[in-house]
Amino acid sequence: MSLLVVGTLAYDTVETPSGKAEEVLGGAATYFSYAASFFGPVRLMSVIGADFRPEDRELLAGRGVDLGGLHVEPEGRTFRWAGRYEGDMNVAETLDTQLNVFADYAPKVPEPFADSRYVFLANSPPAMQAHVLDQVSDDAFTVMDTMNLWIDIAREELDAVLQRVDLLIINDQEARMLAGESSLIKAGRAILEQGPNAVIVKKGEHGAFLFSREFFYAIPAYPVETVVDPTGAGDSFAGGLMGYLASEDRVDEASLRAAMLYGSVVASFNVQDFSLGRFKEIERAQIDERFQEMLRFTAHP
Ligand code: AMP
Repeated sequence: MSLLVVGTLAYDTVETPSGKAEEVLGGAATYFSYAASFFGPVRLMSVIGADFRPEDRELLAGRGVDLGGLHVEPEGRTFRWAGRYEGDMNVAETLDTQLNVFADYAPKVPEPFADSRYVFLANSPPAMQAHVLDQVSDDAFTVMDTMNLWIDIAREELDAVLQRVDLLIINDQEARMLAGESSLIKAGRAILEQGPNAVIVKKGEHGAFLFSREFFYAIPAYPVETVVDPTGAGDSFAGGLMGYLASEDRVDEASLRAAMLYGSVVASFNVQDFSLGRFKEIERAQIDERFQEMLRFTAHP
């Protein structure tokens, strides 16, 4: 399997009802690659500054994440994000975003990564996502994330990149915004018309929908009593989903259904602590246990 992710490595400062974590390792590509590493090797492309801590680099490398596409800007500062969650743990309030080295990042896919069969374009400017698509194989299974910011300020570029990917993974609010529809079902179907072959709409603690031209699938979220920090849940979902697909090396209805459950289960671990705290405590066997539980929760006699 060859799974590539392009996105942020970051230091996050996060406040939730459970407490505060300052300058902890985060970033979309971090969560994605750690989540996917439970299933197999991952290739990572990102940019960091001189302030990126060596132990964080080692943490990812130790998980089998190939850092051959990690660019270091010796004069630069790593991406920073600060956010807060209150009451509704599904919605982050962004307090601060500092793009820093990410502002001028022009991702160049290294030659050994160009044959990647599975590609995840984490949340980043749509033009940057398009630039990566230009450099990978046309046969790759391509998946993208996006956010309200790009729907607002880069709609044309976003529409263009949507037409080039196989799967879009977004949250419910963004799906409504992108489609201009308040019904999530209408929104999912309308986005399919905009280009991707499939759309996954995440609904936080309420699970997720998958829309494709062939089938519709819905899953609940794994029931977690205390969500400590939801940061990275979306990227962990995508990492679990794509890690599983790449490990099976097959994308069809059956593998996509199982991958949705794996994505959801991996995200359920991520939200149980700040940063990668919970991921560091678990192994693949615990993911498989929760996967089986999910099957039992939705089975009928
Ligand atoms: P998620 O909670 O899965 O949507 O992703 C949270 C992660 O995305 C955090 O660790 C942030 O560092 C990172 N992030 C926040 N804002 C942005 C942005 N504008 N572009 C790229 N990454 C971001």
